[in-house]
Amino acid sequence: MNQRQKTRLNVIETGVKMLDSSLVVGTWGNISARVPDEDLIAITPSGMNYDELVAEDIVLVDLEGNVVDGLRKPSIEVPMHVAIYQNRLDIQAICHTHSVFATAMAAARKPIPGAVEDLVQIVGGDVRVCEYALPGSKELGQNVIKALEGRHAVLLANHGMLGAGRDLNEALKICQVVEKAAQITIFAKVLGGVVELSQEDIDFMRDFYLNAYGQR
Ligand code: 13P
Ligand code: ZN
Repeated sequence: MNQRQKTRLNVIETGVKMLDSSLVVGTWGNISARVPDEDLIAITPSGMNYDELVAEDIVLVDLEGNVVDGLRKPSIEVPMHVAIYQNRLDIQAICHTHSVFATAMAAARKPIPGAVEDLVQIVGGDVRVCEYALPGSKELGQNVIKALEGRHAVLLANHGMLGAGRDLNEALKICQVVEKAAQITIFAKVLGGVVELSQEDIDFMRDFYLNAYGQR
């Protein structure tokens, strides 16, 4: 199987997992990944059910967002995805969700503080809220890039969140961890609010995640 086909199937598999994790409802949210060794992005089609997708439904676009291969209309968020890939060479895959607790924070326009271990390890610190722009707009892409600087997740004001990782598994995991951290933040408010970690400890944990955590 060639890399284009493999990437298309990985995007579909991630979409089904995203749906099963209740991070999205219906057809909202979208997923993309770089095709290895090509300047191409595989992205979900606009408004199609994740659990009904076949490989041909995944659209290949270039880094300017032009459709290169595929008959479906790509996600309306192509401008946001390509802006990230152009700007961040460390990012190979992106999942965008409308998950409940993260979107509550995004609607309140409140960042998720760096206050729990898994969040700071995988995101690199707090999760900022980008400035508001309409879904599908180029402006949203530009706003996202700014708020994503030095991080692997961002809240989209009055909209949702996105996780950007080294592969699709990591991008999805980021979305799950951010959703959990958003929920914890809201619960902790009832108890008087979270206590943020020091920058030194955040840096230590990020380094540990990147260079030592897990089986090597
Ligand atoms: P698409 O179905 O076009 O990807 O749009 C869903 C969405 O979440 C827009 O922000
Ligand atoms: Zn969206």
